[in-house]
Amino acid sequence: MSHWDKSYSKEEEKGPVRVRIAPSPTGPLHVGHARTALFNWLYARKNKGQFLLRIEDTDRERSRPEFEREILDGLRWLGLDWDEEPVRQSTRLSLYRSVAERLVQMGRAYACFCSPEELEERRKAMMARGLPPKYDRRCRSLSDEERQRRMREQSFVLRFAMPLDGETVFQDVIRGPISFAHSELDDFVLLKSDGFPAYNFACVVDDHEMGITHVIRGEDHISNTPRQIQIYQALGWQPPRFAHLPLILGKDRSKLSSRHGATSLKAYQEMGILPEAMVNFLALLGWYPRDGREILSLDEMVEQFELSDVKPSGAIFDLEKLLWMSGHYVRTLAAEDLAIRILPYLVERGWVEPNPSSEQWNYLLQVTPLIQERMRTLSEATSLADFFYEDPEDYDEPVVSKWLTRSDAPQMLEELSNRLESLEDFTVEGIEETVRRMAAERGQRAAVLIHTTRAALTGRGEGPSLFHLMAVLGRERCVRRLRTAVRRLTEGSLKVAR
Ligand code: GLU
Repeated sequence: MSHWDKSYSKEEEKGPVRVRIAPSPTGPLHVGHARTALFNWLYARKNKGQFLLRIEDTDRERSRPEFEREILDGLRWLGLDWDEEPVRQSTRLSLYRSVAERLVQMGRAYACFCSPEELEERRKAMMARGLPPKYDRRCRSLSDEERQRRMREQSFVLRFAMPLDGETVFQDVIRGPISFAHSELDDFVLLKSDGFPAYNFACVVDDHEMGITHVIRGEDHISNTPRQIQIYQALGWQPPRFAHLPLILGKDRSKLSSRHGATSLKAYQEMGILPEAMVNFLALLGWYPRDGREILSLDEMVEQFELSDVKPSGAIFDLEKLLWMSGHYVRTLAAEDLAIRILPYLVERGWVEPNPSSEQWNYLLQVTPLIQERMRTLSEATSLADFFYEDPEDYDEPVVSKWLTRSDAPQMLEELSNRLESLEDFTVEGIEETVRRMAAERGQRAAVLIHTTRAALTGRGEGPSLFHLMAVLGRERCVRRLRTAVRRLTEGSLKVAR
């Protein structure tokens, strides 16, 4: 049995907390990795320690620089800064080789000559016999002579010589003691035949070399931990503490996958979720702040964060909650800040120049507060603000049948357009007074005129206060749209939105 964990408390006092994330740049940054990054960052900042990055780019075929950039961009977007230059595994091959040689000399690693085809065949045979497929340790017992001879002639991998009996026990910070019988673990590969390290080995060498004190990572790595601890022990190194975060689940409690929606951080960024909301939402995937608050800034999270308050299971990714949170943060923004954030979406639609003129900018500053109330994601700005930028081409069905096809609608809209044209005070108050006075003079309820006008101006039944939106649209747009609606109604060319 391994007792390293007992001596841990003494070790802990030795130096500052150093944690890391170790993403592989083989795909988009998954929200699970983003959550892992956040928890590591929080732990580092809370303990005045360091948060480091390691790029695990030893999969030569699948690693891509664009994924690496995406990872760094994602962290920056969330506001998670890192200390020191990122470590890149592909630049450290000689380090892994020298440590592997030490293990060989100590008799804890050995060359294995079995070909992938042979291994696959044996694996299948074991499965057919109902046994768990494991390497049969065939090359562990080769004589020195034979080993030397074959090393000159054949390609080989280096395998770790696991103890044959006993168990490895470790104290997971989140889960308590976890043990693995060595009989369940096989002699895993340390170095591949091309000299590149396998994950478990590179991870240990780097965590040791980088002075990592706590390994905080996903639950899917629990079964790697006893293997890694065995390498530490073989080398006489002190292992870090381990904390395994709960898997992120969809609402149906199965592992989060594309079935549940987007799994990459970038997809949420592009959707226009506010980063403040994303990071807040990720924090609550497994962590429960003691004061029970759900809305927390990064600084507030740092203050409250404790690894021991992370629960071992039940981290559910609820998109509705994320949207709600994003909407909450949208409403806390000053109009100018929000305008800057939605600008790219409006530029994409061709409504605003990338460098807006002062007229465009002032218009946007007036539009923004009117759409802020209903907006949850920045990308929703386009559907909420479209009528500020485009005259309606078609009109939603309910407003057509309820308001626009009233027999008095054309006449009513025509009259309003005339009154607005000559209105001196084209302000919220001036417009409201005009509309209400006209309704009163016609002996009509103001609501009828208000709804019919909104329908003609926006094609919609809902939206911001009519008088405010008219003041922002301005006299010219309002008059033009009212008259266009009148013309379409009288010509019978009014199109109903599908
Ligand atoms: N490259 C591994 C991963 O992305 C790192 C796991 C670890 O933190 O040790 O899952």
